Amino acid sequence: MNNKVSIVKCERYSEVQRAVEEAVALLGGIEKFVKKGDKVVIKPNLVSKKKPDEAVTTNPELLHAVIVMAEKAGGIVTIAESPGGPYNAAALRGVYSVCGVDKAIEGTNAKLNFDTGFREVHFPEGRTVKNIPIINPILDADVIISLPKLKTHAMTSYTGAVKNLFGTIPGTYKAELHFRLNERKSFCSMLVDLHECVKPTLSIMDAVWGMEGNGPTAGQNRHIGLVMASENAHALDMAGCHLIDYTVNEVDTVREAVERGFVADNAGKLEILGEDLESLVMKDFAKPESHFNLLRVVSLPASLNAKLTNALASRPKMDYDICIGCGECARLCPPKAIDMSGGKPVIDEKRCIKCFCCQELCPKKAVMIKRPLLNRFMLKFLK
Ligand code: SF4
Ligand code: SF4
Repeated sequence: MNNKVSIVKCERYSEVQRAVEEAVALLGGIEKFVKKGDKVVIKPNLVSKKKPDEAVTTNPELLHAVIVMAEKAGGIVTIAESPGGPYNAAALRGVYSVCGVDKAIEGTNAKLNFDTGFREVHFPEGRTVKNIPIINPILDADVIISLPKLKTHAMTSYTGAVKNLFGTIPGTYKAELHFRLNERKSFCSMLVDLHECVKPTLSIMDAVWGMEGNGPTAGQNRHIGLVMASENAHALDMAGCHLIDYTVNEVDTVREAVERGFVADNAGKLEILGEDLESLVMKDFAKPESHFNLLRVVSLPASLNAKLTNALASRPKMDYDICIGCGECARLCPPKAIDMSGGKPVIDEKRCIKCFCCQELCPKKAVMIKRPLLNRFMLKFLK
């Protein structure tokens, strides 16, 4: 098991070329991962059409730095992503343009992927999913370099290296997986399966600016000042979670990776190269309002547990003062629990599976996280 994670200081994106090269040098250098003529696919986090300064997507300067490094080693680079929402050429064009990817490839030979084909991969080792549709460029790559962004996440608490690979599944299949695996634990188990199936060669995390609070798109930008890298995405996530003060048990992708023996069982056992992780921990990094889960603290009989889980779970709530009635949330809600009524979205709480896709993909940050009164009351005493 590879538990090496490199951590390099990077105060601003103007220094990111140096930081990325240092982080990869600590792991053995780019030549260890990319050989001349390799088809290198770089998979940034481009969840939706957000400008670089919103700190939602992988910063284009970091992306540019990685392209330059991979090309120096002789790689033939393609940038690929299946963003939230539809996976077609028009949607990709919009995402590449707004997220600054068009600019990131300037002065390089890198190509943008517009092949929206995919193939279903049979993955018998999967614990939760055994057949996974994956986009063509990822399947055709010799080398996959994943560029996650360090952020909180309303459904999974944290989104980093393992969750970044959800963007290797074509558009509508993502909604189908949310619908089918509508409980956080099974959804995160699927993400771990997906990671094992895709197995990126290298993950380099944009932790120069991250997002705290109600991430992955509606939180607040937070300066962290780091670039982190690892050959093992689980180790990178364990370091990222420790950095923003999550325990292993609070993040199901990390907890399950530990359980399945893919990473050491605590951050103290990681092999940290470069900066000292312990001295960088950010105790005040704000968690999403959905994060607290009473049932992790109190043990209850299964039937009562299920009822209480539903009664206490945080849920989405539209802020109609901000909402522009675009209908994007209704179109993308996996169980179709949102109806547009009088030009405004209305959630059927009985059908809502609390996946927070509406919050993630709303272009106006109009989807809030509502915490039931009982949840707030208990939180006061138990957090
Ligand atoms: S996506 Fe956001 S802005 Fe658009 S209708 Fe839904 S809540 Fe309103
Ligand atoms: S309303 Fe929002 S949280 Fe509920 S199922 Fe639809 S997208 Fe998911």
